[in-house]
Amino acid sequence: MSILHGKFLHGGDYNPDQWLDRPDILEEDVRQMKRAGVNVVSLGIFAWAALEPEEGKYDFSFLEERIQTLYENGIHTILATPSGGRPMWMAFRYPEVLRVRAEGQKELMGERHNHCYTSPVYREKVWEMNRRLAEKFAGHPGVIAWHISNEYGGACWCEKCQEAFRGYLKQKYGSLEELNRQWWTAFWSHRYDCWEHVQAPSPLGESDTHGLNLDWRRFCSRQTADFCAWEKKALEAGGSSLPVTTNLMGFYDGLDYADFRDILELSSWDSYPEWHSGEKSDVQTAAEIACTADYMRCIQKDRKPFLLMESTPSATNWQRFSRLKRPRMHMLSSLQAVAHGADSVQYFQWRKGRGGSEKFHGAVLDHDATDDTRVFRDVAEVGSRLQGLEKICGSLVRPRAAILLDQENRWALEDSHGPRNDGIHYLETVKAHYGALWKLGIPADVISSDCSLEEYRLVIAPMLYLLKGDIAERLKAFVDGGGTLVGTYQTGLVNENDLCFEGRVPHGLTEVFGLHREEIDALWDGQCNHVAWNDREYVLTELCERIHPSSAAVLARYQEDFYAGEPVLTVNEYGRGKAYYIAAHTGMDFLYDFYLETAPAAGAGPCMKAALPEGVTVTVRTGEETDYLFVQNWNPEDVAVTVEEKLTDFESGERIGAGDSLKLSGYSVRILERPAGSGNTERFE
Ligand SMILES: [Zn+2]
Repeated sequence: MSILHGKFLHGGDYNPDQWLDRPDILEEDVRQMKRAGVNVVSLGIFAWAALEPEEGKYDFSFLEERIQTLYENGIHTILATPSGGRPMWMAFRYPEVLRVRAEGQKELMGERHNHCYTSPVYREKVWEMNRRLAEKFAGHPGVIAWHISNEYGGACWCEKCQEAFRGYLKQKYGSLEELNRQWWTAFWSHRYDCWEHVQAPSPLGESDTHGLNLDWRRFCSRQTADFCAWEKKALEAGGSSLPVTTNLMGFYDGLDYADFRDILELSSWDSYPEWHSGEKSDVQTAAEIACTADYMRCIQKDRKPFLLMESTPSATNWQRFSRLKRPRMHMLSSLQAVAHGADSVQYFQWRKGRGGSEKFHGAVLDHDATDDTRVFRDVAEVGSRLQGLEKICGSLVRPRAAILLDQENRWALEDSHGPRNDGIHYLETVKAHYGALWKLGIPADVISSDCSLEEYRLVIAPMLYLLKGDIAERLKAFVDGGGTLVGTYQTGLVNENDLCFEGRVPHGLTEVFGLHREEIDALWDGQCNHVAWNDREYVLTELCERIHPSSAAVLARYQEDFYAGEPVLTVNEYGRGKAYYIAAHTGMDFLYDFYLETAPAAGAGPCMKAALPEGVTVTVRTGEETDYLFVQNWNPEDVAVTVEEKLTDFESGERIGAGDSLKLSGYSVRILERPAGSGNTERFE
């Protein structure tokens, strides 16, 4: 069930607090929103100074007027808590709300998203604001959800945060002796004698104790999530039971979004792809954004529809180059989010402000405020098309393949010191495996290693260097039960504290993969090895592992260097399933051919029967009785896709038979339907 009575949300960030002296503009906003097909706004995200102009003096009158007027005009509100930007008075009266940097320097008032999440004063002020907002507005029929804060991130090194960090460590390790053992502090004589000597990592102090670095990142993430949970509790204390979200930032490195899973009823994200860039093709960018969308959807406990909270209707002003979206790209990129399970298309922002750092950031209304622009027409067209897609709203994305992208693994791997300090490329490798599936039209979830594996037929775990919790046992059980696992080099080397395992690796997985690793060769950029598989030759770069099979069958071997003839690709039958091991870094050409063969055999084939041309992909959302297939053409040119099953165009009603040619204009999407379960999407039992 969607949050707006089965309707897709269409709208964006709305900041009337910047225009309070212009009633004519506020009136015009509502009129124009209706013309643009807007049915929701995210309101008051940075409005603290307007809501509490002096400490303890609250003035919610403009919110009251806006929420009511919008509601009377059919526009709902996702109401923000304003903690993303603090008012000036607070910083000067209570300097503890300002962060301290890693070098120990206190910050001055300025910028945003830079508050100490431990500060009792900041927490108290936020509590009071949120509670009052909830008391006033949670019962308003126009308010449908909370937008908590904005783009949480960053860290604070103040003494309060350091003390909280030590508290986190005490609880985690129980004793200093255990901390010293897990962090291996005998190295360089860095053994801690008392808890007070434990300091957060700093360029002026300790930065090479990997267990410390990892625990600090975990602490910062959990402290941020704890702050978000605090904000939510304050809303509940004000009587709200509305769903909450906070806008996440895709593959942002500073937080482990899995920490937010139990807090948010809805995940939402801010998506700013660099379309038409000089460095990547749109096809590559589209595949990466698809991967991000699936990752954002899977942050939610139940992987139900999520929200695209921000996107630009035209260009941003903070990327290196503000490239305009080419004609039709706005529709295609908006519906891409819907194709991956978003029940909304929302923008930053409704109307361009006249000053500030984002005065030239794309908005639905430009400074001339006219609706006679390409951008306005593009937005209105999306609003109108979404209205026709209501039946799809609330339907689910339930792939049979999953890729593990674990943020703690990413932190540890990128801090591991060797084998490649000049680019270990974890995220890029995850995206490459995802990209191969995307090209094949095979939908995938992107999950952290604490997620359940039960619904999948194929699990891909690239470079799973850090094993936390019971992931090794669960991967084993997954294969034993009939699943197909794909693992790669650099797997199973350290425990959750980045402490190397004793004995053979991949730790706990040598039986599943039927092999063990001896050593790994890091190649310089420009160096390579080769492998032949199924009569094709592929280049290997970056990392080449030397492995020794016990029970695994060798499918391909290194062709060069002193380890020529040794295995690079193996498969092992284990229980009712099988486990592949790819021992070296391969290109996309190999991954495409590899998954072309192995994914359908695993029971995770393409979601539509068709030969997809380059740059065309398909994803599927499944409703109670219907599959909705989103066929997307990311090429600027028109293409034709030969379809091998019976489908109906959801919007035009056109029937498409097996062998028919499906026409797609450049940068376009067609939505096809078929009875649920009649294609390749039936669930694995
Ligand atoms: Zn702090």
